[in-house]
Amino acid sequence: MTENKTSTFLYEAALTISAKLDTNEVLQRLMALTHQHFKPDAASVALVNPDGTLVFRAASGESAQQILGMEMPRGAGIVGWVAENGQQLWVPNVYLDRRFYPNADKQTGFKTSAILAVPVRMGDQTLAVVEMINPAPDTDLQEAQDTITALASLAAPAIQNARLFEQMQRAEARYQSLFEQNLDPIIILDPRGNFLEVNRAAQKLLPLTRPEDDTDYVPQTDLEKLMLTPAQYDALKAQVDAESITTWEIKTRTADDEERTLEVYFSALPRYLPGGAYQWLAHDITDHVALAEMREQLSNMIVHDLRVPLGNITNTLELVLTAWREKDVSVPFEQVLEIGLRSAHRMERLISNILDARRLTSHKTLTVSAIRIPDMIADVIEIIQPSIRRHRHTLIRRIQDDLPPMLGDLDLLRRVLLNLLDNAAKYTPDGGAITLAVQADEHNFHFAVSDNGPGIAQADQAHLFEMFYRARTNPQLNGAGIGLAFCKLAVEAHGGKIDIRSEPGKGSTFIFSIPRQLPENAPYHESTVTENVL
Ligand code: ADP
Repeated sequence: MTENKTSTFLYEAALTISAKLDTNEVLQRLMALTHQHFKPDAASVALVNPDGTLVFRAASGESAQQILGMEMPRGAGIVGWVAENGQQLWVPNVYLDRRFYPNADKQTGFKTSAILAVPVRMGDQTLAVVEMINPAPDTDLQEAQDTITALASLAAPAIQNARLFEQMQRAEARYQSLFEQNLDPIIILDPRGNFLEVNRAAQKLLPLTRPEDDTDYVPQTDLEKLMLTPAQYDALKAQVDAESITTWEIKTRTADDEERTLEVYFSALPRYLPGGAYQWLAHDITDHVALAEMREQLSNMIVHDLRVPLGNITNTLELVLTAWREKDVSVPFEQVLEIGLRSAHRMERLISNILDARRLTSHKTLTVSAIRIPDMIADVIEIIQPSIRRHRHTLIRRIQDDLPPMLGDLDLLRRVLLNLLDNAAKYTPDGGAITLAVQADEHNFHFAVSDNGPGIAQADQAHLFEMFYRARTNPQLNGAGIGLAFCKLAVEAHGGKIDIRSEPGKGSTFIFSIPRQLPENAPYHESTVTENVL
């Protein structure tokens, strides 16, 4: 090749490199030019991966298609040696050189005899290796080496850029999948408040509308779809340009008319676009808020439930104290103190219900003993009797004779009965009839507490044993909706079942059974047997 031809070649190569952005295309075009000018049997470029392996990214000649994409282990072959050593190499007869890697020829069917390999270097790093295989017989080797070396230094920045570009593309692809598949709605906005990108979750959510907005209100601008005015958007931008992130809560109505609470995170993406961009991301915290509200409601109810008996206790103590100071013996001390004591027991029971419901849900441990049912019932009736009397109810007992001892947690089961009897006394209008029945069969002890009160609607029955559930029929009566949830947990901890039979207007019957043989491996059962009581 004359000097003139060489400079034309390099000039064309330089033009190619500057005109194309896509590396594969640049490399491919350079190979075509090399082929045209030097007429070797083949030419190729192998890129060096960060781990030292190589991959052929451009090729010309008969086997070009088979060579493309072929991978070489680190240091393998002439190309690997050049990559490792960063020096060019001319091998006139590959079969006399131990560095030659014949596998490539085996795969392609090509026959290599001579190779000129030149490294493409940037600083002290070898980015790629250009190979010319079987140069034409009339090639001026020195000139070819110089030209390819010049070509290599021309191509180096392009290859480097291509690498960076590919890395960026991979990062971008990763970001895209994170962005698209994120379950949280994410929107990227330009500084004027127009959407640049909206992920799938956000597309589903938008537009946001205030719960109080007209149902046929349709937001028009992108900012309106986020329930923001231009002035609010400007203020947010100023805030996040100064700090890093800002958050706020919004309530919105979804397309299917549900109210949701979102926590929005707004931040600046200064490098996203030359003029900057902003990210709007939302977390759905509806359930979290509902739970917090429920907790608050519950604590209000509990406080209310505790205040009444506490008031009784305070009154009792004040009455007794005054009588004591004034030596007034006309006060019916016994009855007054009984009222105080009953109220204290009531408070104790409510607190135990709450604590045990939590304990039974997490630890599921029972303190088991052999319970004498008649004794337990006598205890329970003594506690409940004053309330029965106050409401002028009649209490009917149907207890089977000779009941065998029952294995179970006395404290829990006594409280189950107390809760059921207490509810019967509380919800049945004065002068009602309350029945407590107990019998045993071969497998189970059966307990039933019936009343002739208002009954419970079918729709409520399914939920009665859920924590904090209260039937709508008698909202005027105090209660936290914990008692029956506790009963269910306590009965099931024994491997038993609890159920309700009721019809509005015809009273209610709560029945529960406790197995005579406590299941060894019942899901809830991890018993600590204490041999006492009998
Ligand atoms: P609380 O009585 O504190 O509200 P419970 O869990 O003991 O909580 O009862 C849940 C709901 O079941 C009550 O709010 C009440 O509406 C209903 N209920 C329970 N027992 C009866 C009954 N014997 N008769 C009518 N309704 C009842």
